[in-house]
Amino acid sequence: MTQDFAGRTALVTGGTSGIGREVARQLAARGAHVVISGRDAVRGAAAVEEIRAAGGTADFVRAELDDLASVRSLAKEAIAVGGGHVDVLVNNAGVFPFGATAEVADGVFDSTFAVNVRAPFYLVAELAPAMAERGHGSIVNVTTMVATFGMAGMALYGSTKAALGLLTKSWAAEYGPSGVRVNAVSPGPTRTEGTEAMGDSLGELATQGPLNRVGTVAEVAAGVVFLASDAAAMIHGTSLPIDGGRLAV
Ligand code: NAP
Repeated sequence: MTQDFAGRTALVTGGTSGIGREVARQLAARGAHVVISGRDAVRGAAAVEEIRAAGGTADFVRAELDDLASVRSLAKEAIAVGGGHVDVLVNNAGVFPFGATAEVADGVFDSTFAVNVRAPFYLVAELAPAMAERGHGSIVNVTTMVATFGMAGMALYGSTKAALGLLTKSWAAEYGPSGVRVNAVSPGPTRTEGTEAMGDSLGELATQGPLNRVGTVAEVAAGVVFLASDAAAMIHGTSLPIDGGRLAV
């Protein structure tokens, strides 16, 4: 496998599970030193162990992304364990509390925006200036297809990811002139630990797309890794749908 990420450190939030864990695995297989973050230290250790067993380099840094102090210290710890630099930031961690607007429990609104919007915002604030100083870096944000169209039950979740979609463009404008590329992927229904509880409704959601099936973490991670790589050197400020064509119809 090509080692095109050799010498680069990649911070993957939500790297303990689902899409993030597969992104971490693929980046490490291509030579990146991966810093995996999440809350669950047991899952973190397992993700790190899997990468090391395959010959890759990885570390786990625990963080509570709904706590701003923890977000800021994650950035600092990632730089420290990453050899003094973070070259790739994948803002993947997310929570998806679906449900009627009138039934959003107290505090859930704030914690959803904290994890899905505030954490990526302050990770970029902490890490992008140093990327810009070095003249290179790549940021990939993970949004969702329901950030683009309205769907009942997705108001809170979709609006957080729509904010992240706009931040992708804003950061592209802000940091692009310094050589830092910023893009997003917009997945459709994807089988992960986090969507297990949705049961059949995940598949039902997938039938709305022309390919008529649920995606895999490998398919989503491949898009993330492509955007983070030099193969995407001229791709900037955009969002790549990985949704079986749902946004097209
Ligand atoms: P998942 O399996 O539930 O994993 C979520 C990850 O985020 C875990 O690693 C979790 O870490 C981390 N996380 C959640 N809350 C956190 C917090 N407060 N502090 C720190 N870390 C936290 O999710 P997934 O399905 O892979 O989804 C990954 C991303 O893709 C999310 O942003 C999601 O919105 C987006 N997405 C998913 C789908 C889908 O169908 N799966 C579709 C579109 C978009 P710990 O468990 O270790 O705390």
